[in-house]
Amino acid sequence: MNRYWSSVVRGLEPYVPGEQPKIPGLIKLNTNENPYGPSPKVLRALADEVADTLRLYPDPNSDRLRAAVAGRCHVKPQQVFVGNGSDEVLAHTFLALLKHELPLLFPDITYSFYPVYCGLYQIAFQRIPLTAAFEINLDDYRRPNGGVIIANPNAPTGMALKVSEIERFLEGAPESVVVIDEAYVDFGAETAVGLVDRFPNLLIIQTLSKSRSLAGLRVGLAIGDAGLIEALDRVKNSFNSYPLDRLAISGAVAAMEDNDYFEETRRKIIATRELLVKDLRGLGFEVLPSQCNFIFARHPGRDAEELARSLRLRSIIVRHFRQERINQFLRITVGTDGECGRLTQALAEILGD
Ligand SMILES: *Cc1c(COP(=O)(O)O)cnc(C)c1O
Repeated sequence: MNRYWSSVVRGLEPYVPGEQPKIPGLIKLNTNENPYGPSPKVLRALADEVADTLRLYPDPNSDRLRAAVAGRCHVKPQQVFVGNGSDEVLAHTFLALLKHELPLLFPDITYSFYPVYCGLYQIAFQRIPLTAAFEINLDDYRRPNGGVIIANPNAPTGMALKVSEIERFLEGAPESVVVIDEAYVDFGAETAVGLVDRFPNLLIIQTLSKSRSLAGLRVGLAIGDAGLIEALDRVKNSFNSYPLDRLAISGAVAAMEDNDYFEETRRKIIATRELLVKDLRGLGFEVLPSQCNFIFARHPGRDAEELARSLRLRSIIVRHFRQERINQFLRITVGTDGECGRLTQALAEILGD
């Protein structure tokens, strides 16, 4: 605390991101980054953008990127919003669309940034428990609310709802905004983007950080009815006119256009995940069914925090959450086959001790 702080800052409980250690040779399986680099076409587009034109502001509306996203998702550019990572898109969404009298609903176990935004913008919220099997049951969300936000697939469980379940929920929930955070959707789940033309209260949020391997470029997006997008534009234009710089716009356009590279790398990650799940189950782990580039696993005989510490001594870092209900789980990012092999070997040694 410092006496110059505003009362808002005094009350904040900020999000704690996974660490980015500077230790060389580390196997980093803690923040769900893509183990493969971005498309070579992205790197070329970035290099081309490093030019005299950097003295000029970028396009405040990122029209080129909005058009590229619209083309890929079969929507109109007015149905697309882009921002500095999906975290920024989420922040604007909370303020623009989810702040109401009635509480915002989200699962008790989900992306831990959601309650942080509620704290920042003073939004009332209610946590809805996952089932005993760590599933989301959308019938539990059929109660008066000021909005609903669901990560699909959910994080950190990795488990996904079917689009038909989301559709059935939306048919009975026209009163408030329903946000689906699809940060991991490309690793095996179904996108609900196809529903936006039928439901003017549905907003889909995606990111280029995971499946497009661009966590370092900071690009996220939202797709929905033009009326919802206009609300996001109003907040954005009251906050920062230029959230995406010239490099981010060019790199993101190239990433959206290189479908072959996208398909190749996401398939590799899915194949490695299936192998990793099989190996961990072979070591006695219980692994939740994952549709993500990470898995969520617990060992019936070993404390999760101790396992994480032992892995760290072997230069492998994974994510452990101290939160109730999940404090015996480890969240492990799917790396390359080689990295996952080193992980299972290390776990086999640790469990053998
Ligand atoms: C990673 C992640 C995000 C944020 O991604 P950005 O890098 O800010 O685009 C949003 N939601 C969930 C559930 C995530 O896991």
